Amino acid sequence: MVLDLTVLGCAGSHTGVGRMCSGYLIEAAGKRILLDAGNGSTGNLQRECRVRDLDAIVISHRHVDHCIDLIGCYYNLRFDPERSGRRMPLYAAAEVHELLTGLLSGDSPMSFDDVFEHHEVGHGDHVQIGEVSLRFARSVHPVPTVSTRIEVEGVTVVYSGDSAGGPDLIEIARDADLLLCEATWTGDAADHPPDLHLTAAGAAEVANEAGVQRLVLTHIAGATDRELVAAEASGVFNGFLEIADDLVRYRVEPRR
Ligand SMILES: [Zn+2]
Ligand SMILES: [Zn+2]
Repeated sequence: MVLDLTVLGCAGSHTGVGRMCSGYLIEAAGKRILLDAGNGSTGNLQRECRVRDLDAIVISHRHVDHCIDLIGCYYNLRFDPERSGRRMPLYAAAEVHELLTGLLSGDSPMSFDDVFEHHEVGHGDHVQIGEVSLRFARSVHPVPTVSTRIEVEGVTVVYSGDSAGGPDLIEIARDADLLLCEATWTGDAADHPPDLHLTAAGAAEVANEAGVQRLVLTHIAGATDRELVAAEASGVFNGFLEIADDLVRYRVEPRR
């Protein structure tokens, strides 16, 4: 089975020049799944497919650079003339639903839940979308956040979400064919606030410990030097390293 991962937004915390915030389209086994909907990312999504063509949306956490475009998706689906009665399955970490319904309250005779079929997900949860399996692990981050393991026959991709690393991320990323991992910062982790994000070297260490062969670094903060991210990570990582960019597609195929 082939899995295509298209980066819709790779910027960390805020948009950059031509770079949107976190959003990734997974296409495998005839299913389309949106991972995160940060600011601007669903503009790029619609280069690939219509919002209604998604089979599910997964939101890693309630920070706006990962979820705020769901408000746009709400209006997109609500005003879609070809909208059926189907609600869009939404699998979101705790507090996402509360935040977004609060933003829409009083604004509409319809509600968020008329458009989305919300399910809260957390550590250890499993969701099956056709032949695509999603597993979730808690992430080290200041608000409830999940890392996501996406598996389809013979292929595994893991998305860290925002994460400061740790054993749960290493465990869920174990032997993945591709790890899409945040690397917000460069330099020494001790020079940054604890339990918030990874450095480039920290992400590389996670990938090494998990036995991952292919690492794509993303969520690089606007002021962070992308070339320095690549240099620092490649000095640590034992496998094949790439730096995510908007609208780049990664094809993942079973290992022979
Ligand atoms: Zn973020
Ligand atoms: Zn965050």
